Amino acid sequence: MSTRRYGWMLGLLCFAATCQTLCAAGKLKVLIIDGQNNHDWRATTPVMKWALEQTGRFTVEVSTTPDGAIGDDWRPKFSDYDVILSNYNGHDWPEAVRTAFVEYVRNGGGFVSVHAADNSFGGWREFNEMIGVGGWGDRNEKSGPMLYWQDGKIVRDESPGSGGTHGAYHEFVVETRAPTHPIMKGLPPKWKHAADELYAKMRGPATNLTVLATAFSAPDKAGTGKHEPILMAINYGKGRVFHTVLGHDAGTMTGSGFQVTLARGTEWAATGKVTLPPPKPEDMPADTVVTRTPPK
Ligand code: ZN
Repeated sequence: MSTRRYGWMLGLLCFAATCQTLCAAGKLKVLIIDGQNNHDWRATTPVMKWALEQTGRFTVEVSTTPDGAIGDDWRPKFSDYDVILSNYNGHDWPEAVRTAFVEYVRNGGGFVSVHAADNSFGGWREFNEMIGVGGWGDRNEKSGPMLYWQDGKIVRDESPGSGGTHGAYHEFVVETRAPTHPIMKGLPPKWKHAADELYAKMRGPATNLTVLATAFSAPDKAGTGKHEPILMAINYGKGRVFHTVLGHDAGTMTGSGFQVTLARGTEWAATGKVTLPPPKPEDMPADTVVTRTPPK
């Protein structure tokens, strides 16, 4: 091969490398944590990775914990990322990881808690302050009040009982409750969510927490008869947390409402702003579920 041809190939390689660097520049770095969950994390993590990356706003990496009790072999470097997304519900993280995580969020890091991630770590005080409310994991009245929406505001219900329940798996309508919050601005007042579990009776300290959206937990679906918090924004130190209770399985996550709110919530947690354009109204209608499935 001639020297000239080598030069041409070298140029192309340089161009590709530069393009890769430039294309990644300006994107927010997300780390999804999975590896243990009573849900199918192997199926759900790829849907969330795709839903975030196809917006063009994020690059997503995944850190999968070992099975069972976690030792010295899992030490994610939180500070390398703009936002951490938990798809994890399992053994306690080692103390060194817990300390690093609290420090990361307290100093301004973003955190996103998806569905059963809020079942984890019932006894970890700082984590519960970050997510605001959680379910199961031995949570009860000592964990904090239950929240529900009534007459245009949030009620903090201190009555005793265990935290966390859900009725039948079904499609339901999600209602915006904080229309001027950056995550919600431009979203419809109501949209139909794909079949999912509708979490209820979640309990926790619920401080510095804004309820962004609720859903009615219908008694004929074995629900509580109350408007339960579905999307929440929490401030923790200098950090921001987006908490979605939605996302039981990969099918649920193909709902456009799940994907749109996940992407907007993740951007807000990372930066405090949302630049992603709101969806077209027909992408989040109140009477039909619109689904978007990752390419195979
Ligand atoms: Zn579930």
